[in-house]
Amino acid sequence: MKAPPFAYVRPATLDDVLAELAGGDAKVLAGGQSLVPVLAMRLGRPATLVDITAVPELGDLENTAGGLRVGAAVRQRTVERSAQARGVPLIRMAMPFVGHRELRSRGTVVGSLAHADPAAELPAVASCLDAMIEIAGPAGRRTVPAGEFFAGAMTTVAGAEDLVVAATFPPARAGEGFGFAEIARRHGDFALAGVATRVRVAADGAVTHARLTGFGVSDRPVTRDVTALLAAHPDEAQLRPETARIAAEVVDTGGDAHGSTGYRRRLLGVLAARELAGALRRARRAEQEVAA
Ligand SMILES: Cc1cc2nc3c(=O)[nH]c(=O)nc-3n(C[C@H](O)[C@H](O)[C@H](O)COP(=O)(O)OP(=O)(O)OC[C@H]3O[C@@H](n4cnc5c(N)ncnc54)[C@H](O)[C@@H]3O)c2cc1C
Repeated sequence: MKAPPFAYVRPATLDDVLAELAGGDAKVLAGGQSLVPVLAMRLGRPATLVDITAVPELGDLENTAGGLRVGAAVRQRTVERSAQARGVPLIRMAMPFVGHRELRSRGTVVGSLAHADPAAELPAVASCLDAMIEIAGPAGRRTVPAGEFFAGAMTTVAGAEDLVVAATFPPARAGEGFGFAEIARRHGDFALAGVATRVRVAADGAVTHARLTGFGVSDRPVTRDVTALLAAHPDEAQLRPETARIAAEVVDTGGDAHGSTGYRRRLLGVLAARELAGALRRARRAEQEVAA
């Protein structure tokens, strides 16, 4: 099928982008890797596509006091290859799983967050790290933590007249380790289930912070603080029954042709134990390197 007719504009300033979005019948066009298929399948009929790639400030990728700030027009592949992103290991661990390299050379990091596919990797990374998301709209600018940004499947708190301007991912602190894994039918497919983990240890190796985000298992990324659990069960085998219990609680995606709810629960439980134990090992190694 062909896309329904639409007007195409490519403003050069943020104000002009917002003016084009006013009225709510226009859609932001970032990398087009999700929007164009949606149009081709006639699942959406916006009157106007507002291409944001000519606005200079939206192309900024920079390290700020809050972390790696990724502008709305920055491509996934740019982040994947950039030296600036080295300070955020989780984003670099997840990026190879986001579709294929060809898609990442067009798709944007912020576009993936705005699209809010429950099985997408970058929303899970943003949730696990508690990235801060900047939104501009008719009411001005606001910044929301990723934990409040995702409102449901393909839905965020950004309205139809809003532009997501940038996302800032906090850098790794001393004594932190990360984990990321997913199971998909083929590499590049959306995940059947996946996890992102973040663990911090003190100088003596004791766990001081642990977070687990599951994706592909509910209508949005699901994050749990598992500090006490990992401190009590630092070994993968010990963790398994605990993460299986969490998986039973958080996985509510209904079964489909690719896997049942029970199968997704099992995947999440196994991956979570593995990636928490792995992140803990990496955190302890990072702490020892600082001490040496
Ligand atoms: C075959 C295939 C496989 C894929 N596999 C994966 C995968 O495994 N994992 C994965 O995560 N993704 C996957 N994708 C999606 C891809 O990574 C997209 O790049 C991403 O989801 C959206 O980014 P984009 O920049 O292309 O956004 P677009 O397609 O331009 O936009 C997507 C949606 O977000 C809105 N939007 C975009 N930017 C903004 C903004 N700044 N403010 C407000 N709204 C905005 C658009 O209006 C649109 O509704 C796949 C796509 C294809 C075609």
